Amino acid sequence: MRYGILADIHGNLPAMEAVMEHLEAEGVDATLCLGDIVGYGADPNACCERVRALAGLCVAGNHDRAAVGAFDLHWFNAQARAAAEWTAHVLTPENRAFLASLPDVAFGNGFQIVHGSPADPVAGYILDLFEAVEGMDCQRRPICWVGHTHVPCAFARPHGHRLCAPLDLRPGQPLVLRAECEYLVNCGAVGQPRDGNPLAAYGLYDDETRVLECRRVPYDVAEAQARIRAAGLPSWLAERLAWGR
Ligand code: ZN
Repeated sequence: MRYGILADIHGNLPAMEAVMEHLEAEGVDATLCLGDIVGYGADPNACCERVRALAGLCVAGNHDRAAVGAFDLHWFNAQARAAAEWTAHVLTPENRAFLASLPDVAFGNGFQIVHGSPADPVAGYILDLFEAVEGMDCQRRPICWVGHTHVPCAFARPHGHRLCAPLDLRPGQPLVLRAECEYLVNCGAVGQPRDGNPLAAYGLYDDETRVLECRRVPYDVAEAQARIRAAGLPSWLAERLAWGR
């Protein structure tokens, strides 16, 4: 099976459409959606509808939970809170029900998906080796796909070992995931990259060849920014898209 891996779409429809075009051209068999479909961006309903139409698995992110009143907004900064309140207001009943139905964790053949960390599926961050080890200790499949930080990263450790090592995860550079190791991988954010690269990020994984590739795709950033401004959302949410921050 070939999988497309999407995380942190964040209501950014131009970014999502650009990534979907690539996935369709690749002819993936299934798509894994790692949460934060909404929040920050101006098209939460359209993004929910596109995710609902995909064959594959999807889990909830903290912004999906916040949009349906199931995550405490005091954890959010002012812009995130304003966006969450706006999103909650504009969501259709169908999309609200869809977001409310998403699980914290989902399992596939040899992998699991969570938004944050296997140790704290919806809200936990994997930012360093310590958090990666903590996450891997709670992993129940050899591979775990995560999002949440909006920064691509990957960690590996041989089965039965305590410590893990970071992997060099460069866009467009294929990486073979070895059967004797377990992996924790973040391919980056579709709709709000924060690694200084404004291009939309997604992953491709083939579970027969075990080849992973994280890719970057240009999209119409100006259009996404215009939609954020037209919706009356905080202007920083538009500006940051150009910087990838
Ligand atoms: Zn996010």
